[in-house]
Amino acid sequence: MNEHPPMRYHSTVGTSPTTNLDGALRRGLAPDGGLYVPERLPDLRYADLADCRNLAETAERVLAPFFAGSSLADQLGEITREALDLPLPVVEFERGRSWVMELFHGPTAAFKDFAARFLAACMARLRAPDAPVQTIVVATSGDTGGAVAAAFHQRPGFRVVILYPQGRVSARQAHQLGAFGDNVHCFCVAGDFDDCQRLAKQALNDRDLAESRHLTSANSISIGRLLPQITYYAHASVQLFRRTSTAADVIVPTGNLGNALACILAREIGLPIGEVILATNANRTLSEYFSGQDYRGRPGLATLANAMDVGDPSNFERLAWFFRDRDLREVGIQAFSISDEVIRRTIAAVDQSYHMEVCPHTACAVEVLHMRRKYGQFRPHLLAATAHPAKFDEVVEPLLGRAIDPPSALAELLGRPSHAEPMAAQFDDLRRVLDRIASE
Ligand SMILES: *Cc1c(COP(=O)(O)O)cnc(C)c1O
Repeated sequence: MNEHPPMRYHSTVGTSPTTNLDGALRRGLAPDGGLYVPERLPDLRYADLADCRNLAETAERVLAPFFAGSSLADQLGEITREALDLPLPVVEFERGRSWVMELFHGPTAAFKDFAARFLAACMARLRAPDAPVQTIVVATSGDTGGAVAAAFHQRPGFRVVILYPQGRVSARQAHQLGAFGDNVHCFCVAGDFDDCQRLAKQALNDRDLAESRHLTSANSISIGRLLPQITYYAHASVQLFRRTSTAADVIVPTGNLGNALACILAREIGLPIGEVILATNANRTLSEYFSGQDYRGRPGLATLANAMDVGDPSNFERLAWFFRDRDLREVGIQAFSISDEVIRRTIAAVDQSYHMEVCPHTACAVEVLHMRRKYGQFRPHLLAATAHPAKFDEVVEPLLGRAIDPPSALAELLGRPSHAEPMAAQFDDLRRVLDRIASE
């Protein structure tokens, strides 16, 4: 039973009618082009979650208010147990002062597994048993495609079409994307990530095509991906508070602001989190904004931390909505930009001083911690580690001077044959592919 008042979801643009969670999950993007946001945030404290034994239990309690008024409300426990049954180690980094939350123990070794699995568990339950097969079109710069493919692989009623940019993802990422098979169709597009995203958007926005081929999206702006990400911050912050009696500051490697916004929302709900510090790569949109300059979106720069190569983070619009009555620069958020050169140096230094292997994204967070220590900030910190370093072996291994063993789930995928079909960055080619797949 869900005893919370029904939760309505607004569009950030504000012209689309409000909807319950089902509507927001089904549509992904609001009809007016805005992003869905919950009308209010629940109020939860340390004591409300202190007896939760694992992430699934924490998630059920944190998400119940968001599911009120949804047809999925009674299935929330089942959904969290199915989707969030992933290891979530919180590993000590500096003795008694900082900890690393490892978000990379899912099937594709990056944090996106949590959200993709949760979204898939919701979508599978929203679907009528006799509904036509839905095709999920996903453009990826590497990690999203794999997580979505893994979450929907062999799920009845769904197929996945992955579009990834040829030569712009790591060899291991490419292998992984093509290794699923069955209901996952992988295409290697002659273009960059923006081309892939444009093709996917064009297909989803083409009413006739989207309706006749039952297209849907699972992209990072879905509220169904934001909500589950709140839960691991809730769970880890409660664990740390028990140990330190202090609300830890949290450092989050950031690209599209999805993972970091979830952390900020966990704090706004009332959980023991201090400042939230965004660690970006050389893409400086957020660090400039939070240092007082105007917000200026721009094309993404290619860096070693390629999953964060974002110059105009899509979730900024949501962040601004949540703090619409306050000055966003005065709500306990900071942002720092880390260059490729420093990423390289940090990966090597963390290995030497802490015997910890980190991916290029996580390295940005570690460097931000070092900066804070240098400037006399000695509070407890929690760092989000977003991917396993073995996923970025081409960057990390030469710096460590040795090979890194992939985790078993990733190794299993890498051991399978992999197949991607080449595709031109042309909408007609995508349309032909969607027609063909639908008739298979
Ligand atoms: C997607 C991704 C990020 C960025 O996450 P956002 O939610 O877009 O900020 C960081 N690190 C890794 C490994 C990722 O895959």
